[in-house]
Amino acid sequence: MTSKMRVLVTGAGGFIGHHLVKFLVQKGYWVRGADIKLPEYEASAAHEFHKVDLRSDQNCLKACEGIEHVYHLAADMGGIGYISGYHASVARNNSLININMLDAAVASGVKRLFFSSTACVYNQDLQKRPDIESLKESDAYPALPEEGYGWEKLYMEKLCRYYREEHNLETRIARFHNVYGPLGTFDGGKEKVPAAICRKVALASNNSGIEVWGDGEQTRSFTYIADCVEGVHRILNSDYAEALNLGSAEMVSINQLVDYVSEIAGKRIAKLHDSSKPQGVRGRNSDNTLIRSVLNWAPSTTLKEGLKHTYAWISTQVENKDAATHSVTLCEARSEGAW
Ligand code: NAD
Repeated sequence: MTSKMRVLVTGAGGFIGHHLVKFLVQKGYWVRGADIKLPEYEASAAHEFHKVDLRSDQNCLKACEGIEHVYHLAADMGGIGYISGYHASVARNNSLININMLDAAVASGVKRLFFSSTACVYNQDLQKRPDIESLKESDAYPALPEEGYGWEKLYMEKLCRYYREEHNLETRIARFHNVYGPLGTFDGGKEKVPAAICRKVALASNNSGIEVWGDGEQTRSFTYIADCVEGVHRILNSDYAEALNLGSAEMVSINQLVDYVSEIAGKRIAKLHDSSKPQGVRGRNSDNTLIRSVLNWAPSTTLKEGLKHTYAWISTQVENKDAATHSVTLCEARSEGAW
């Protein structure tokens, strides 16, 4: 790396983008962050931060000014409840952000652009059983991705290739599989399953129960954040231009995930299944053959290890929030003369 190469991270106010900014600053890059919001739980480590809406082409142009590499992570997204409830908004917002970012990168002479795609691009017919074969990159075609979010990501993968071929913009693509870790959204409706389970277990008392969406037999693999940012950096700097899975290959059911978290918390927790809630595809896992052969590397943090760090962070947040709410209630009560 040349000293202080200037890079842009879009989505720098979000979970993965914020961790990526910290990682890149530690590696010695000069980092500009861009996002419509600031990071939620701690200050950004970016040297410069553009708090802007990237659906605007002018904001994308300003964000790309003087930049060599773009890590493009900004997207309107959330857990399964959110992405299955807002197909039009998610597809529209992300299409605008993505096309404006590609155009701005070309106009500004950016050399490389990394795009964060998703396991939601995979053909849904291949994900109908909990014990499915791991998904390899070619399984995205023939295309039958998740409605809205998945279609839009798959189309952006194509756009990356078209811009590379027609405009000489070097593009790199990772398909993330359920990334989790500390500093991720854990409440409010946009949280994903590991964070939601950690929050519910943290709030539950010993020998009680928590709500689990579906019958809990649906399977997934979960990627720890440290593996994710390491992989993103390796993929951007590699010579491989097609999409690569960036995910753990350790598949578990959601019921198992609940058991792991309960064990870490030292609580006995019953699962109260709610089949009226969305649960996504029945089974999904990452096949890491290609990433291993291309990068000689693959995510390696075990789920139990990653969940330990995640639960520790979320349970502290829950306690702090609880304490803050309690003290606000006490203050309000005092000011009303009840104390
Ligand atoms: P996140 O929601 O925490 O981060 C996305 C960020 O994009 C947010 O901070 C949001 O404010 C920002 N954004 C949204 N609309 C914007 C706009 N109009 N202008 C500027 N910024 C805008 O999500 P994340 O988990 O950090 O995901 C990062 C990327 O990885 C996304 O592209 C997502 O689709 C992809 N991805 C994530 C996962 C996962 O498990 N977390 C899985 C697959 C793909």
